[in-house]
Amino acid sequence: MNNEIINLAVPGVRGLEPYRPGKPIEELEREYGVKNAVKLASNENPLGPSPRALAAARTALSDIHRYPDGNGFALKQALAQKLGVAPECITLGNGSNDILELLARAFVLPENEVVFSEHAFAVYPIVTRAVGARPVVTKTRDWGHDLAAMRAAVNARTRLVFIANPNNPTGTWLKREELESFVRDMPPHVLVAVDEAYFEYVGEAEYPDTVAWTGKYPNLVTTRTFSKIYGLAGLRVGYGVSSPAVADILNRVRQPFNVNSIALAAATAALADTEHVTRAVRTNREGMRQLTQAFTKLGLSFIPSVGNFVCVDFARPATPIHERLLREGMIVRPVANYGMPNHLRVTVGLPGENERFIKNLEEVTSGK
Ligand code: PMP
Repeated sequence: MNNEIINLAVPGVRGLEPYRPGKPIEELEREYGVKNAVKLASNENPLGPSPRALAAARTALSDIHRYPDGNGFALKQALAQKLGVAPECITLGNGSNDILELLARAFVLPENEVVFSEHAFAVYPIVTRAVGARPVVTKTRDWGHDLAAMRAAVNARTRLVFIANPNNPTGTWLKREELESFVRDMPPHVLVAVDEAYFEYVGEAEYPDTVAWTGKYPNLVTTRTFSKIYGLAGLRVGYGVSSPAVADILNRVRQPFNVNSIALAAATAALADTEHVTRAVRTNREGMRQLTQAFTKLGLSFIPSVGNFVCVDFARPATPIHERLLREGMIVRPVANYGMPNHLRVTVGLPGENERFIKNLEEVTSGK
């Protein structure tokens, strides 16, 4: 890049690497000349959105000459009712990613530190560096968050801690007691953001619902999304749940119309379709079993995951395997940028998509 222009960028932004998304299907088909590519790379819902969400989106289309409801009244009401919190506790975002960024922008100064774990979601270092603050990355424990290490990393300069539960890309999760004791121990000058993008997929009895703690901990923020189980990734809508005081601050810095009108309508309708969510959970559970049984059969180990994705370990650099899969029209996610060069992350697909991935994997790993 032009040297002079880069020097005009604010210091934190100069060294930033952009977030690397999963390859879009069209891009692979264009670049590799393959047809019927399958994408198991971005933790999307393979069932697609609820038909009710689609119908609401179509209806909302006829009003797109109007600005959206900047306060997202209907969606906030529906979320408040479902979650058992006051609407004042909710901040709507252009994806939950927006909320993560708003947290850094509204609360973190360049002299502050932001704590998160190794192998945690790639957006945490981006939003931290973008505001010029120092990322403090704690070592992992069994691919997951080491809460004792994270607690020890908190000091007078810390302003924000990010915890992904479950974590992407590893699929590891934290139990209710350990997480609540961590949140309880945080000093008042530290905000804890618990990122629950995959909340609805988790069936473990000891998995915490941190939204239920909103009234207890004024410095806690839970983020969730309509991109994953609700199948609305392309519309960009997510939310934060926090004390009204934190929500008030976030609302001061967000764009006035950060969630578009189609997304608002679709998300409100999606929330009401609990059957679709149940179906997605079931499809995911069965698909996860299908994939992990195949890994075991192929002698490949994997990180047990409670999300809609799983990291498989090739015990050698995964780049050539990833390349071969791409040439077969199979898009999965390399995670070398997460410090995991021997793994690939696979999103659980529909049974036929999983089957095709397993077949491709068998061919690639047997050297055929
Ligand atoms: N948090 C985690 C852990 C994620 O995996 C993702 C999506 N990859 C997000 C947040 C952001 O998703 P969205 O902005 O679509 O809500």
